[in-house]
Amino acid sequence: MHFHVEIWISGDKDPSLEIEEALAPFDENEGASMGGGFSWDWYQIGGRWKGCHVPGYDSSKDENHIRTCKLCKGTGKRTDMEVQDGCNGCRGTGRALDWPTQWGPHTDDIIHVSKIPEDLSCAALIYKGKVYGWDDGYGWDKPGPKVKDMMNDLEIISGWMVTVDVHS
Ligand SMILES: [Zn+2]
Repeated sequence: MHFHVEIWISGDKDPSLEIEEALAPFDENEGASMGGGFSWDWYQIGGRWKGCHVPGYDSSKDENHIRTCKLCKGTGKRTDMEVQDGCNGCRGTGRALDWPTQWGPHTDDIIHVSKIPEDLSCAALIYKGKVYGWDDGYGWDKPGPKVKDMMNDLEIISGWMVTVDVHS
């Protein structure tokens, strides 16, 4: 399962290092396990939730993620086999979307906490070594608690928030 995690960082040092440190206690590769708590075995900044800090951005329509379909070479029709919609790689459009793992992060996947959208939800918020809002039932259809609500409870008014796609 992939989960949308927001990680708070101070912004005082290299963001990738701060993210690494924030996630380290929950690393399954180092022996952490779900067992009712939060853990991960892989992550990337943005990923499936790339650009969620930016209202209106749609990662599936980002031109940087769209390539000529390899299966039909952009023609929208497979000549080597009969398939529905002409091509199973692109549904006949000739264009295919890269896998999220191939996407680079959005420039706003790391934003100042004051810019977090009101309606943004996430499966877990990691703040100063603790996990907030976590429930392993969260997913696309059950997005989790509002980031703003958790920030208000924790009185987070400074620092930065990073969108991370976490796999467990
Ligand atoms: Zn195709």
